[in-house]
Amino acid sequence: LKPPIIRNLSELHALWSSWRMDGETIGVVPTMGALHDGHLSLVRAAKARCARVIVTIFVNPKQFNSPLDYENYPRTEEEDAQKLSKYGVDAIGVPTGSIMYPPAFSTTVSIKGLTDVLCGAHRPGHFDGVATVVTKLFGQTGATHAFFGEKDFQQLQVVRRLSEDLNLWVDVIGCPTIREEDGLAMSSRNLLISDRARVKAPTLHQALTRIATGLAAGTPFAELKSKAVAEITRAGFTEVEYLDLRANDDLRPLERANVPSRLLVAAWLAGVRLIDNIDATAP
Ligand code: AMP
Repeated sequence: LKPPIIRNLSELHALWSSWRMDGETIGVVPTMGALHDGHLSLVRAAKARCARVIVTIFVNPKQFNSPLDYENYPRTEEEDAQKLSKYGVDAIGVPTGSIMYPPAFSTTVSIKGLTDVLCGAHRPGHFDGVATVVTKLFGQTGATHAFFGEKDFQQLQVVRRLSEDLNLWVDVIGCPTIREEDGLAMSSRNLLISDRARVKAPTLHQALTRIATGLAAGTPFAELKSKAVAEITRAGFTEVEYLDLRANDDLRPLERANVPSRLLVAAWLAGVRLIDNIDATAP
């Protein structure tokens, strides 16, 4: 059964307020569409945890820093709805651009610290866009729980901070990264990678895994990093934006994985920006 696609905010409000009145939990899975197994794993997690599930699809212009990237972003609403029909989702929220950002719209939600590093340092305004739209989506859907992928680890930490700081009372749940068989993290942007470049894409995950093994053996991060950057570049990536070892809680840089920590990378392959991260915490 295809879930209803709801574009109208008052219709969505009527729906979720009746659920909340009945004491039901509402799990929300915010996406930008072009759904793949990574997204669907979040939907499964939401279904397992919540009485009601809303998936939102909105390609948020405010979180893109390049108009071309925004234009080229894949949009596959028909197929997305088809895929979701197998999961018993209660509604698909698809707000239009003018509903999300009417002409008088004036608010920006901005988070300090966590957003100054990694992707935040390379994509000015990106996390303001994410935080603003996520705050709106929580309000639009009456979410009690929200499901985010570890694939975007920094985003997950930012949303956790946001929900706590603004007392949104949304329980933010992180879900593991789903990968292709060769290790490449699933991403809607993978559709944009040419066949020739696609063969090289798993290098990113391989490099992270190698570093994690090295860290566990006691090798300092700096040494492992320079080898990994060379490996990634040799594979044909044109730029490594960052490759860092960071503490999970506040994303401060680390030299050793002696607290809960994460290895994170962003790099460009044939015009497509790929990100990945893995757990690095010493056992
Ligand atoms: P996006 O549509 O790229 O904005 O992603 C929507 C949600 O799906 C975010 O919480 C992402 O972290 C999550 N997600 C994207 N790719 C994956 C993946 N490969 N595994 C798990 N979650 C993912």
